[in-house]
Amino acid sequence: MDLFEHQARELFEEHGILVPRAEVTDSPKEAREIARRLGGRVVVKAQVKTGGRGKAGGVKLAADPAATELTARRILGMDIKGHPVGKVMLAQPVDIEREFYISYVLDRAAGRFLAIASAEGGMEIEDVAATRPEAVARIPVDPAEGVTAAKAAHIAESAGLPPQTVDVLVRLWQVLVREDAVLVEVNPLVRTAQGQILALDGKVTLDDNARFRHARREEDGTCHDDPLEAAAASKGLNYVKLDGEVGIIGNGAGLVMSTLDVVAGCGARPANFLDIGGGASAQIMADGLSVILSDPAVKSVFVNVFGGITACDAVADGIVRALETVQLTKPLVVRLDGNNAARGRAILDERDHPLVQQATTMDGAARRAADLANAA
Ligand code: ADP
Ligand code: MG
Repeated sequence: MDLFEHQARELFEEHGILVPRAEVTDSPKEAREIARRLGGRVVVKAQVKTGGRGKAGGVKLAADPAATELTARRILGMDIKGHPVGKVMLAQPVDIEREFYISYVLDRAAGRFLAIASAEGGMEIEDVAATRPEAVARIPVDPAEGVTAAKAAHIAESAGLPPQTVDVLVRLWQVLVREDAVLVEVNPLVRTAQGQILALDGKVTLDDNARFRHARREEDGTCHDDPLEAAAASKGLNYVKLDGEVGIIGNGAGLVMSTLDVVAGCGARPANFLDIGGGASAQIMADGLSVILSDPAVKSVFVNVFGGITACDAVADGIVRALETVQLTKPLVVRLDGNNAARGRAILDERDHPLVQQATTMDGAARRAADLANAA
């Protein structure tokens, strides 16, 4: 999961990397106040989880608080590469003398980390690597050894970075390790006219598997890109937001993945999916349905359950009881198979909800859900 620039900036600051003073807001009026607090002139920066914001017009210098309000209003109305700008960061402008690039990234294939560094920072590193590969140093980092001062000196020297960057290289490694990140990137890392080394832009990708070790991210909800994902996680559900219109609930990762494929094969796109795992109690069903139905993109819902340890009649009971607490607003196609499938189907037949339909096969159910979504 990627962090916003302002969250990366905060982590850098906590680990002793110098960053410009900055504050975040979603309000142009407040942006004006912040600019005043920061000394008048500020850089207004769109907070979106994509790079190249500068080129897209999402990073602008504002000369005074009034200009900041106007610029913030304009940037808050932007959409950068499909990411609507919900917040802007106002940062103190820095007198840049040189721009560098540094990052650590997990190299899965090699089972190691890779330090990537260049004295040609600022622009996108992919472009530098493509046109002048010799300007980008790539140094393997053994995860057990990490980045010591000696290692950092080697990285800096290989990339042609000044010796003052060694301390930042060591601290950036500490960010990666302590925060359980799989990527930390600073672009640009700058040397100011006064000789200070500052991180002006940051990207951090955390390892989702280590989420449980970072309770504070769970609490403030920053670990989820989507509010519904956060709501589902708070109920202990595995929910993932996608781009289509068919909501999908299934039990077990394998079945859910193949359900996505079958729905796609029927000419519709999954809107999301929710894996209810082994247990499909009424509570889990009610929680799951309410999460799926709160996604406005959902046009139909496909519940695909293969009864095993949790038998289909228990799942059907769960759906019936969920219908008592959740108001069904979209058609629900249910396919029950496996353990006690006949009893489960009978329970749903008896409930006879006008928006609930059953199908006996996965393909048939997927087609029905896809047709309903496409017709809506
Ligand atoms: P992105 O990489 O998404 O385009 P950056 O934060 O790297 O966004 O900003 C683009 C450029 O804007 C930087 O390379 C730097 O030259 C300039 N910039 C960013 N923040 C500041 C700042 N606080 N002071 C001065 N210049 C800045
Ligand atoms: Mg940048």
